[in-house]
Amino acid sequence: PPVTQPKVVINAHDLPYLNPALPVATRVQDLLGRMTLAEKVGQMTQAERNALRSKSDIATYALGSLLSGGGSVPSPNTPAAWAAMIDTFQLNAQATRLQVPLIYGVDAVHGHNNVIGATILPHNVGIGATHDEELAEKTGAVTAAEVRATGIPWDFAPCLCVVRDDRWGRSYEGYSEDPALVKVMASVVTGMQGKADGSELSKYNKVLATAKHYVGDGGTTYGSSTTGSYKIDQGVTQVTQKQLEDIHLAPFKTAVDLGVGTVMPSYSSVEILDDNGATISGPTKMHGDAALINGTLKDKLGFKGFVISDWQAIDQLPGDYPSDIRTSINAGLDMIMVPTNYQGFTQGLTDEVTAGRLTQARVDDAVSRILTEKFKLGLFEHPYADKTRLGTVGSAANRAVGREAAAKSQVLLKNDGNLLPLAPTAKVYVAGSNANDLGNQMGGWSITWQGGSGNTTTGTTILDGIKQVAPTATFSQDASAPLTGYDVGVVVVGEKPYAEGIGDVGNNGRTLGLTAADKAAVDKVCGAMKCVVLVVSGRPQVIADQLGKINALVASWLPGTEGAGVADVLFGTKPFSGRLPVTWPKSEAQEPINVGDAAYDPQYPFGWGLTTQASARENVSDTRNDLRRRAGSDPNVVAATAHLDQALKVKDWSGPQATTVLAELGQAAAALQLTTADTSNQDDAIVTGARWIAQNKIGQNLDEAASKLTSDAEHLAFDGQLSNAIAKLTAAYNL
Ligand code: BGC
Repeated sequence: PPVTQPKVVINAHDLPYLNPALPVATRVQDLLGRMTLAEKVGQMTQAERNALRSKSDIATYALGSLLSGGGSVPSPNTPAAWAAMIDTFQLNAQATRLQVPLIYGVDAVHGHNNVIGATILPHNVGIGATHDEELAEKTGAVTAAEVRATGIPWDFAPCLCVVRDDRWGRSYEGYSEDPALVKVMASVVTGMQGKADGSELSKYNKVLATAKHYVGDGGTTYGSSTTGSYKIDQGVTQVTQKQLEDIHLAPFKTAVDLGVGTVMPSYSSVEILDDNGATISGPTKMHGDAALINGTLKDKLGFKGFVISDWQAIDQLPGDYPSDIRTSINAGLDMIMVPTNYQGFTQGLTDEVTAGRLTQARVDDAVSRILTEKFKLGLFEHPYADKTRLGTVGSAANRAVGREAAAKSQVLLKNDGNLLPLAPTAKVYVAGSNANDLGNQMGGWSITWQGGSGNTTTGTTILDGIKQVAPTATFSQDASAPLTGYDVGVVVVGEKPYAEGIGDVGNNGRTLGLTAADKAAVDKVCGAMKCVVLVVSGRPQVIADQLGKINALVASWLPGTEGAGVADVLFGTKPFSGRLPVTWPKSEAQEPINVGDAAYDPQYPFGWGLTTQASARENVSDTRNDLRRRAGSDPNVVAATAHLDQALKVKDWSGPQATTVLAELGQAAAALQLTTADTSNQDDAIVTGARWIAQNKIGQNLDEAASKLTSDAEHLAFDGQLSNAIAKLTAAYNL
C-alpha cells in the first residue's frame, strides 16, 4: 500500500540545534536553552502507543517517547505497517514548536520478535550456551538491522541479568549464571549500536540498546516478594556488597564500557547483607535507589546515556504518586515509562519542579541525556523509516544467522553409544509436544508478550528441519501409533511459552519438571527403540527420573524460527559445540544451584557439553585461534598454540591416539603456565574439570575429555583467567 509521506518540512527553522554540522553537545545546549518546562517534562515522558487518546496528544504533551509494549502491534502486523505507524507518530512530533522527534522503543529481545515474518533468534540462554562472543555480536546486529528497518531506533535489550535461580520465569532472557560469561555476551551491545562512541548509531542498521534490568534481577530470593505468584520475579536480591559487584554489577560495567545508550532499572529490590547475613541496608526498590543509580551507575561507572524506567515501575515505590516521581527522578531516572498515565505524570512532574521539590538542574541533566541520544541516532535528520530497508526483516541472510545460532546453542548432555549424530538414511520416528510447534520453540516475547503455541509467524519447526535432512522421518503425537521398524526415536519435550512471572503460564503451574504428557512420550518411545530426547525450554528441566531410559539428551533451549539449525547438529552437518551456560539440577529442591557453590552435585555441571569426535577437533582449533587472537605475541602463548597445532594433527581422536592429544594439551598448558604466576583465580571448576577427565577416561571417550578440557579453558581464557585455563589443561595432562 502507498505510504503516507510527511507533509511537514523537517528542520525548517534554520536554528543551530538543527544543524547536523555542529557537535552534539552544542546542539543539545542550544535546544535545551529554547525549551519551556512543559517541553522538558514531555521529553522525560514515555507513553504506550495504545494509551494515546489521540495522536495529537503527542504535540499537546510534547511527548518525548512512545513504546509498543509486548504484543502492542499494528494491524496488519507487517514490517510496512510498523514503518507507516512510526511515520505517523513522528509526523505528529514534527508538528510541535521545536520539532523534536520521538524516540520509539520496543522489546526486540531475540530478533524483532513482535513482527510477523521477522527473524526470531534463540533466546539469550541459548546464545549463552554458544559461549561465542562474535556470534552474540552478530545476533545484536541482526536484531538492530531488522528493528531499524521498520523505523524504530531503540530496543529494550539486552537483558544482562545473571540468572542465579532457574525458577525465575525470566531465566531464558539471561545468558548465564556466570557473570564472566554474561560479560562476554555483552558484545551484543556492540552488534546493536556499533562503536562505543556512538558514532555509528545514525546508521540504517543500528539501534540504541538498553542494558536491563539494573541490577540484581536474576538474583532475587525465592519467595521473598510479597506480590502474589510473582514470588521470585520482582523480588529482593539479598547479597553482600561484594557479591552485588562481582556477580550482578559486572556485566553492566562492561555494557557501559561498550557505550550502551540506555539502562533500565529492575522491578526488584536490593538488600545488602554483611558476611553473617545481617541486613546492612535495604531492601530498596531499584527505581528509587539513588546510591546504585546516581552513585554507582552514573558517577562510578561513568554511564553517560539515559535511564529509562520499567513499565509503571515507579508506581511501586512507597508513598503517593508525587513522591514516586520525586524519588525516582532524584535517584537518577531520566525518562519514565508511564505508560498510560501520561497526563498525570506530566502534571505531577511539573508540580514537583514548580514547587521546588525537584531541581531544574536535575531536569536539565535528564533532558540533555535524552536529547544527546536522539541527536546521535540522527533522528533530527531522519525521523522517518527508510522504506527501502523493509526487505531486511526476515531476510535469508538474517535467517542464516538464526540457523547458525540455533545450531551452536545445542548442548549435547548425554550420548550413550555415540547415538548422535544420526545418519540421514536412518528411519526416524519423531514425537513430543514441542517437535512441530513454532510458537513453543520461540518461547515468550514472540509475536505476543507471553508468546503462544502454533504457527504464529513464518519459520521452520524442528520437525521441518529434520524432514529437510531425512525426508522419510515419521511424526506422530498419537499415543496408540505402532512403534515398530524404526531405527531411532526423537522425542521433543519441554516448556510452553511464557514471559515474566514464574513461568507457569501454560505449564500447569509447574516450574522445572516435565509434564505428564512429556513423560509419557519419553516412556513410550524410549521403551520401544533407541531414543534422543530434545528439551525445548527456557531453563533446565528436571529429568533425573527419565534419564536411564534416554540414550542421547540435548538441551535445545528456545531456538527461535530456524528449527533447521537443530537438525544440523542432530545429523552431524554441524558439530555440537554448545556448553551449559547454567547448572542443570537433579531436582528442583537443589535450586538455587550455581557453579562455585560449596556443595555442588548437579545432574550436569556448568560448562558441560559433549562433543562428537569431529567437534572435539573443532573445539581445540577454536581454543588455539582464541589464544592467538587474545594473548598476542607472548612467546609462551606462541609455544602453547604450537602444541595445540600439534594436537590438531592427530588424526584419530579415539583410543590410543587420544593420549597423544592429551600430551600435547599438557605441553600447551606447561607453556602457558610460564606466562603467569597468578593462580589466585583457581576455583572449584578445576576439580570439576578433573572429574570430567576421570569419568571420560573410564568411559574410553578420551576425545570428549580433550575437547571438554580445552573448550573450558577457552571460556576461561576469554575472561582473562589464564591461570584457570592452565590449571584445567594441567589437570588433563596429569590424569
Ligand atoms: C518488562 C521490561 C520491558 C517492559 C516494556 C516490562 O514488563 O519488565 O523488560 O522492557 O515491560 O515492554
